[in-house]
Amino acid sequence: MKNKLETVYFLLPEIIQDLIFSIYGIYLRALRFGRIYGSNLNNLLESEWCSENEITRYQEIKFMESLRIAFDHSEFYKFWFNKHGVKLSDIKAISDIQKLPLSSKKDIRASGLSYHNNSIPKYALKKSLTSGTTGQSFTVYNTIKTSCIQWAIWGRHKKRFNISMIRDKYLMFGARVPISLNSKRIFRKDFGLNRRYLTIYKLSESNFEKYIDCINNYRYDFIAGYPSSILLLANYILQNNITLLNYPKVVITGSDALFPETKKSIAKAFRAEVTDQYGMAEGCGNFSQCELGRYHLDFEMGFPEFIDMSENPNSNIKHLVFTSLSNIAMPLIRYDTGDLVIPTNEKCNCGRKSIVVERIVGREEDYILTPEGNKIQGLNQVFEYANNIDMIQVYQENIDSIEVRYVKGLKFENQDLDRLKYELNKRIQNSMKINFIDVQNIPLTKSGKYKAVVSKINL
Ligand SMILES: [Zn+2]
Repeated sequence: MKNKLETVYFLLPEIIQDLIFSIYGIYLRALRFGRIYGSNLNNLLESEWCSENEITRYQEIKFMESLRIAFDHSEFYKFWFNKHGVKLSDIKAISDIQKLPLSSKKDIRASGLSYHNNSIPKYALKKSLTSGTTGQSFTVYNTIKTSCIQWAIWGRHKKRFNISMIRDKYLMFGARVPISLNSKRIFRKDFGLNRRYLTIYKLSESNFEKYIDCINNYRYDFIAGYPSSILLLANYILQNNITLLNYPKVVITGSDALFPETKKSIAKAFRAEVTDQYGMAEGCGNFSQCELGRYHLDFEMGFPEFIDMSENPNSNIKHLVFTSLSNIAMPLIRYDTGDLVIPTNEKCNCGRKSIVVERIVGREEDYILTPEGNKIQGLNQVFEYANNIDMIQVYQENIDSIEVRYVKGLKFENQDLDRLKYELNKRIQNSMKINFIDVQNIPLTKSGKYKAVVSKINL
């Protein structure tokens, strides 16, 4: 049915598509930014300044609430806790969390059991699908109330940069439907959500001018989207010394890793600050950058744990595990997100007391295998040494070599590769041949994401 509707939609003139897209936008606006959004946002703007004690107290209460729901109303967790011999009475506080088993999308799928809160009537559950990097879909459950909290958390991040999700207009670099590949226009208008939606699938030399025209002809306040997509346009702007007629107040990125060089190029091209956030479709946790660029935990949404990697427990890179605190429609307990982070005990000078992570490293499956059988994760950390390189990807097809595909920046010189080679060799312990390959672009995945590390031998 959905496909049929899509086919019909694509046959309509662009102006009618704008209208349909806008009507859908009005519906989404009511859903996301309805009456409770404002009060949620006000509460969150206050709670982000909570003391450490207040944060702990809040999380303790919410943690026990989530756990009770999981024990009583989630078929999967009932089964999972029973299988691991854990009773609710064993858990008195967050300090007992390690008595609970870890869980993952794989465990949930393998069980075949439902995992939403079955005390919520079906009509009140909102379902959405996430494909994830493995390509296997996973249904995410929310209620209007829980998704409003999520939107308010994202709204709080924007508020730190004087952006209002209700009032301000924006350019969204998106991967979703509304523009077909054979359409000449690269954007659709969405009056409902105050935005122009630009497709990321047409970002190429022959279309860049259309993107520039779109930006110049729209009075917008900020830009949002995948950093890898915005970077392509940023590079074009920088290489051609283009002066835009409108500059954003801020560029907000998310969904794939924001590397320091990417951040620098985007900031320079759009003459604006760049800020990033980390979240996941499952909605069990979130980190948002503050004004000082540190990733703060949105502690109202999830309780994080940083678990050693079994293959390399001494590494500063850890598995990110979340227990959901705000989404009572789908409580996920000790849920392995599949993402890797570098935690830190440092406090941030902005005054917020929530936990800070040094860096979001990337996906767990993004690793290189050495001939000795070592998994090298977090290889994308070396990209910060990639001076004068616009885009980069580590690609492995053979066990004894890696390809480093790179797109040259304007001031690129061959010795820029030397530092990169040195840093890579440090991590792979000189055990593999490194082939540098100069490419015109790095292809994105089907869902429009950029992958920093691609391995064809991990499968
Ligand atoms: Zn901070």
